[in-house]
Amino acid sequence: MSSSSSNLPPVRVRFAPSPTGLTHLGSARTALYNYLLAHNTGGQFILRFEDTDSKRYDPQAEDDLIDSLHWLGLQWDEGPDVGGPHAPYRQSERKAIYQEYAQQLIAQGDAFYCFCTPQELDAARKEQLKNKENPHYPGTCRQLSPEEAQARVDAGESHVVRFKMPKAGSTTVVDYLRGEITFQNENLDDTILIKSNGLAVYHLAAMVDDHLMGITHVFRGEEWVSTFPLHVRIYAAFGWQQPTWVHLSLFLKPEGKGKMSKRATEEMKQLTGKSIFVQDMEAIGYLPEAVVNWIALMGWSYDGETEFFTLEDLVEKFSIDKLNPSSAAINFKKLDHFNGLHIRSLTIEDLAQRIKPFFVSAGYQPDDETLIEIAPLIQPRLVTLDEAPTWAGFFFETEVKPEAADLIPKGLDAAQSLDAAQRARDLIATLPDFSHETAEQPMRDLAEELGIKVGQLFGVLRIALTAQQVSPPLLESMQIIGRDTVLQRLDQASSLLEKMA
Ligand code: GLU
Repeated sequence: MSSSSSNLPPVRVRFAPSPTGLTHLGSARTALYNYLLAHNTGGQFILRFEDTDSKRYDPQAEDDLIDSLHWLGLQWDEGPDVGGPHAPYRQSERKAIYQEYAQQLIAQGDAFYCFCTPQELDAARKEQLKNKENPHYPGTCRQLSPEEAQARVDAGESHVVRFKMPKAGSTTVVDYLRGEITFQNENLDDTILIKSNGLAVYHLAAMVDDHLMGITHVFRGEEWVSTFPLHVRIYAAFGWQQPTWVHLSLFLKPEGKGKMSKRATEEMKQLTGKSIFVQDMEAIGYLPEAVVNWIALMGWSYDGETEFFTLEDLVEKFSIDKLNPSSAAINFKKLDHFNGLHIRSLTIEDLAQRIKPFFVSAGYQPDDETLIEIAPLIQPRLVTLDEAPTWAGFFFETEVKPEAADLIPKGLDAAQSLDAAQRARDLIATLPDFSHETAEQPMRDLAEELGIKVGQLFGVLRIALTAQQVSPPLLESMQIIGRDTVLQRLDQASSLLEKMA
């Protein structure tokens, strides 16, 4: 019995990032789809670090990947940190395995040693370009007899291992979202599988790992479509059953044109402060729930209408049949919208805890009791959590410092504002009990008595009590600030206004 909406038996899927920089939203989405399919089918989600490119390797990127996935709530079942039956899950620790499989391909005649020097290859490339050909491996070492090649290897000559692509005919591959794609073999190269330093490249390492780790579905970026026939040929050369290949579309820049690459993200961050590095999104105050909801829908839809999904909903509803191969442009307005929806669906206690670090980094010392009181006031208003201190930082100030001129709202002069502040003070001081419910009507009556608008009266009070032009609802805020502090701040405002009147 399975509750899978995909109608699939339990899958084994993997997220296989190269730890080379900050975790980007594109990676987060690939990880999410893996997680969703694994959980939807009762299968396993595996994390594997593809760190074979030692020049680009960045150990901090591993921590960032782990932190980012944890922040998003995507836990894996097997991986470099948690282990598992197919350990190690870091390619740099699997070197010997790739060597063994490369040897098998050489022995079968599906791969060969190549001794061409970089200079020779460069000269061949220049010649091909001169002849208006696409640059490709000239095939020099393909012709060597296995004995001669082995003798040169034994003599210590520097070499790589290349895959032997058929030169005629075609290779047809099947992508789950795009269907069949046919490549003419004459356009395919004899790609390097093992570099001269003995390290396998992605093309060999990922195929071997996916096979050995029992991967049933490969989700990866569409940048791998051009080398897809090589991967299918490698699988076929070993006689392995192909996984289901799913190439996910890339994200486009907000303008809708051009890939939202890591570099483009850096540029956008400089220009607009917006970023799609997961780490930055956390710092801006996006909720992981909102980010998950947003990215889930950038390439997948449920019924084309429902927009609010929790991770649990997504697990239940996800199916690969509803994935969409067209590219989606990053749309921060949508993210803001989702963030609002998810902020409003948090419990007060949860929201209070989530805004806390933003007050701390803004220099306040928030206490839990006050946080719980202010959370409901800002919950309907917040777009991102980092706005919380701007709305409500004054609750944690012992003193506020309004500008005298700001205490005079439009349409009133200093004397009228002073009168309003003093009369409000007297009213508040004499209210039998002090709450926003008991203060509301008398305040409205007072405005009428003074012949001013309620908005003008509240304008004086807002600046006097918060020193901010915008604040959460005033009367509720007053109740939290407490009667004594309110009176004290109104006295302070009055003495400022006296100097102006
Ligand atoms: N290491 C590859 C990348 O980061 C993974 C591609 C794949 O998932 O096969 O793009």
